[in-house]
Amino acid sequence: MRKNIVAGNWKMNLDYEQGLSLFSEIVNMVKDEVVGDQEVVVCSPAIHLHSLHQLTNSNKVSVGAQNIYQAESGAYTGEVSAAQVRSTGAEYVILGHSERRAYFAETDEVLAEKVNLALKNSLKPIFCIGETKDQREQGEFFNVIQEQLEKGVFHLSASEFAKIVLAYEPVWAIGTGLTASPEQAQEVHAFIRKSIAKAYNSDVAEATTILYGGSCNPTNAKELFSQTDIDGGLIGGASLKSRDFLDIVKVFNT
Ligand code: PEP
Repeated sequence: MRKNIVAGNWKMNLDYEQGLSLFSEIVNMVKDEVVGDQEVVVCSPAIHLHSLHQLTNSNKVSVGAQNIYQAESGAYTGEVSAAQVRSTGAEYVILGHSERRAYFAETDEVLAEKVNLALKNSLKPIFCIGETKDQREQGEFFNVIQEQLEKGVFHLSASEFAKIVLAYEPVWAIGTGLTASPEQAQEVHAFIRKSIAKAYNSDVAEATTILYGGSCNPTNAKELFSQTDIDGGLIGGASLKSRDFLDIVKVFNT
């Protein structure tokens, strides 16, 4: 009933030509090899968005941004707005990635504004939540995740919330080669789904796509994605290699 999604996060990698070339490979491989109804999303740097969108040849591959600014328009030199991203044809935007929270001091309050602007401009947020290594070791991770949900997305109406994709990304697993075990990831995903049911209702919770992210690769993806509450992945490093990315996407081939 809920959608399975595998989303790549290219981060600040690939020049314009390299991005087009990798994306063309991905689109062709998806056309030739993907038989299920999983959705594939590529979140690229903003400079690629329009050209990548023009290369999408089926509604199985969508394009997304990695950030937007928290104002509609105006004197914010160097920033990109939700409306500008949407005008490229992009459908998704990653919000609340731990790198943005850590390096750009993005607070839950700012992220809530970004979520609102994304939805207002018909962009679907992929909203990231997750605990640091310290927070896990102190046993605080459920509280941290609950607070990120409450401040970042639970102010939305149920119909707005239905447009959100969540990504559980334990910060200690991102780009580190350390992956949450399937049991650890499932435990948190089940917690997130329960929390959505409490904030809205069980129908909304059951319909929400919750991705796992953190050193996901073709070897560990199958076990992670076969957990009851894991509906796909947000993939960093492995999304920069078309073969690896496609092998992760194909976990959902039936
Ligand atoms: C990410 O940046 O969202 C991510 C999950 O990165 P990696 O797969 O490289 O850990």
